Amino acid sequence: MKPALPVGKNDTVTLDIIGLTHEGEGVGRVDGFTLFVQGALPGEKVTAKVLKTKKTYGYAKQLELLQASPDRVEAPCPIYKQCGGCQLQHMSYEGQLAWKRQHVIDSLERIGKLTVAGSSRAVESRETAESGAAAASEDHGSRAGVIVHPTIGMDEPWRYRNKAQVPIGMAMADLDGGAAGSLIGGFYARGSHRIVDMDACLIQHENNDSAVRQVKAIGNRVGISAYDEATGRGILRHVVVRTGFVTGEMMVVLVTNGPRIPRLEDWIQGIREALPAVTSIVQNINKRQTNVIFGDETRTLWGSDVIYDELDGIRFAISARSFYQVNPAQTLRLYQSAVDYAGLTGSENVIDAYCGIGTISLFLARRAGHVYGVEIVPEAIEDAKRNASLNGIENASFEAGAAEVVIPRWRSEGIKPDVIVVDPPRKGCDEQLLDTILEMKPERVVYVSCNPATLARDLQVLEAGGYRTVEVQPVDMFPHTVHVESVILMIRK
Ligand code: SAH
Repeated sequence: MKPALPVGKNDTVTLDIIGLTHEGEGVGRVDGFTLFVQGALPGEKVTAKVLKTKKTYGYAKQLELLQASPDRVEAPCPIYKQCGGCQLQHMSYEGQLAWKRQHVIDSLERIGKLTVAGSSRAVESRETAESGAAAASEDHGSRAGVIVHPTIGMDEPWRYRNKAQVPIGMAMADLDGGAAGSLIGGFYARGSHRIVDMDACLIQHENNDSAVRQVKAIGNRVGISAYDEATGRGILRHVVVRTGFVTGEMMVVLVTNGPRIPRLEDWIQGIREALPAVTSIVQNINKRQTNVIFGDETRTLWGSDVIYDELDGIRFAISARSFYQVNPAQTLRLYQSAVDYAGLTGSENVIDAYCGIGTISLFLARRAGHVYGVEIVPEAIEDAKRNASLNGIENASFEAGAAEVVIPRWRSEGIKPDVIVVDPPRKGCDEQLLDTILEMKPERVVYVSCNPATLARDLQVLEAGGYRTVEVQPVDMFPHTVHVESVILMIRK
């Protein structure tokens, strides 16, 4: 016999919200049983209806807000509730920044088993949390534990994205936002793969919004079918638009389900006329039945195969499939922290693992002896090489391949880094790479992380192998979303 749960489906319960999950759901408890409530904030009291229960937790829908958090604000975006893109618009920006810092601290403590300076789970308000960090930085945290600085936020946390990736579908009825049979494109409804049409996204650069609108209009005029995820039929899958914030140059990528684009000349003509800032029109072919956006084959339809942008005076060529940070204002702050933590004097050998198009590498190269970059996407490495020569930077070299394969080989070839910078994707560093770092014994490791959980896991390995985590700087790269980015300094004990 299964033990009875304290709540069942469709029950109405009253909950005190005591936390926020990494997906932005409020956490409440009934007789020790955890319920997740979308849209509820810590400190609030709500009534909620239980939607679903599992063995140890369940989901509930908020009905009534009995007591609001001081951090509760009206979400400015009219489609916030339907769209899955943002999760924290109902929380003040200040509250978001404090939560992100606390989220890093919680991961370091719970997963990484690290001691954080001036923090304990007893820290309740962000005021005490932040003055705690300030006090801790004065003693450099040697014994007091890891210093976690307040999150660096944006002055104007809207319209910050330089890239839009919009899934394209066909309107079934007026319900989807377009006349039946016309192209729609916007976002996947929260928790589903139903595409909802969108005119504007408040975290997107206006130029990207307007380019997406124009491309949809051109598609409707010229005539193209939308890809249907269920049947695998139809042509246009995604429209991806990138804007260089400094240069103003734009790239439009049409992701299609095969090589053929009907009336291609009309497409190119249409985009060029409607969007004079576009310097590159690219097609990417993705025939796979997957929700990964890009396929392996990319071809330039018109103009350049890259667009250019600049960060702190360094010029970057960016091709369609290359990773480039989406929030340029915050990228500067992120990279600045990474460069500071690297502590360079001009003579050091530095490895930049997961280097993308060589962005961090070139920032580091200005202060280092030599920088070795490694990255798995070959086009990104082509971009990185081009970027080094574009900027007359001669002390950076790049190699395509998996960091966990290439760096061990560099070690056997006698490369001795003073500093290793890693900036892995969400899944964190490969174990083989962590082992190699421990064998190479650099004085410093700078870890740039977009996932506090895998970060904490990896730091624990490096701590056990002889490194001490000194400082953590969270940087808000993705305002209004639950994404938490941070830069970490580790020093060899
Ligand atoms: N540091 C860069 C890119 C960071 S994103 C920047 O700030 O722009 C992470 C990068 O890791 C991506 O470019 C991705 O293609 C790359 N990557 C993923 N797995 C990898 C692996 N095993 N080895 C090397 N690079 C990898």
